[in-house]
Amino acid sequence: MKLTDQELKDLCLKTRHVVENDLEALQPEIEQTHVFPKEYFDICRENKLFALTLPEQFGGLGLSVEQFFPVLEEICRGPGGMRMNLHYANGLDWDILYEHGSQKLKDKYMNKFASGEFFTNFALTEPDCGTGADIRTTAVKKGSKWVLNGKKTLISHTDISGASYVIAVTDENKRKKGGITAFFVEQDLPGFTVEPMPHMMGCRGAGHGYIFLKDVEVDDDHVLGNVGEGLEIFMDALALSRASIGVSCLGLSQRFLELAIARAKDRVTFGKPLIKRQAVQQMIADMGTQVYALRTILMDTARQFDHGESIEMKASMSKLFGIDTVRTVSDSCLEIFGGIGYFEDNPYGPVERMYRDARALWFEEGPRTVQRLTAARPLIANGGFIE
Ligand SMILES: Cc1cc2nc3c(=O)[nH]c(=O)nc-3n(C[C@H](O)[C@H](O)[C@H](O)COP(=O)(O)OP(=O)(O)OC[C@H]3O[C@@H](n4cnc5c(N)ncnc54)[C@H](O)[C@@H]3O)c2cc1C
Repeated sequence: MKLTDQELKDLCLKTRHVVENDLEALQPEIEQTHVFPKEYFDICRENKLFALTLPEQFGGLGLSVEQFFPVLEEICRGPGGMRMNLHYANGLDWDILYEHGSQKLKDKYMNKFASGEFFTNFALTEPDCGTGADIRTTAVKKGSKWVLNGKKTLISHTDISGASYVIAVTDENKRKKGGITAFFVEQDLPGFTVEPMPHMMGCRGAGHGYIFLKDVEVDDDHVLGNVGEGLEIFMDALALSRASIGVSCLGLSQRFLELAIARAKDRVTFGKPLIKRQAVQQMIADMGTQVYALRTILMDTARQFDHGESIEMKASMSKLFGIDTVRTVSDSCLEIFGGIGYFEDNPYGPVERMYRDARALWFEEGPRTVQRLTAARPLIANGGFIE
């Protein structure tokens, strides 16, 4: 669906209202329980927040990335755990199945995403190796079945999901040259177990778990794409998700900036509001410049994606620049707030929680080293040319 400019503005405003009122109101309890209450799912369902990008034929709004990113920015101003869930629900959650799943699996599951009655998780990271071609989970063909064995760690949404996208080695001799395959694995299969991970610093409510696969059997129609294409499928899917992490950095940074200005207007020291001090104005100008630059990079990346071009390099740049932005903007915000910024229940807004929430963004969809590697490869190949 292509919204008019006015419809998009209205959707953004409505989303901001829902996030800053209805969803924020649930977060104090979630900070204690670390679990989303039923109301969270009801609010998201009512406002179609699980279905922003999902194609219309499956009950979604089918927004393009250019139209989705401004709405996601509004979501990302809010609590980090909800941001994590909604960023995933509008990307990897349904997209891998839609692009690479068998018709049988699509018929069974594609209609269940819009309502939030069904979630997947993305199971790449393992405890005993780096995140990528050196994974140790295996899938061996036995008769008509694939038998999976292995461990995954740090996997988001394992507490609410019904199936996992699992990546496994199917040919030890080939590995990243066609020896890794992606599977759709239902969590209720014999041998599939989930163990919850300890509580996180921030992004509370988003449940994380270890996944253990012990002789889990799936049919051929649970292979995603073709045998041997797993690494490409996972890495392709991650590109847009990395750019979405850039949007997550943007939403938080924009809110840090607004809160810093509000506080600096109110706080009077030595007879003058902080906002009148040149030193503070300079910090605010730097924060605004970074926020604006990040938004511009992201919208360019979104346009390129919607035109069907590869965004691998720009997605990694978006995430890299996003982390730098949210790091410096959140530091400046807390500096402007002074000591009160370090405390919970701040009357201006939840800066202490936002600071904790932001830290997850360093790791989601790969750390800085991985983003730099992905950005450097095409830059070097093209002699530094950026289209
Ligand atoms: C909140 C949260 C949610 C997550 N959700 C998921 C999920 O849903 N699915 C999933 O699969 N994973 C998930 N992850 C895992 C995440 O993708 C990894 O944490 C991330 O890729 C880093 O891997 P690692 O933690 O194993 O760190 P390590 O690989 O141990 O790296 C630690 C540090 O060493 C550096 N490093 C590692 N290797 C090299 C190298 N070769 N050269 C130079 N430096 C290196 C890294 O940059 C990093 O700074 C999640 C993580 C978090 C924190």
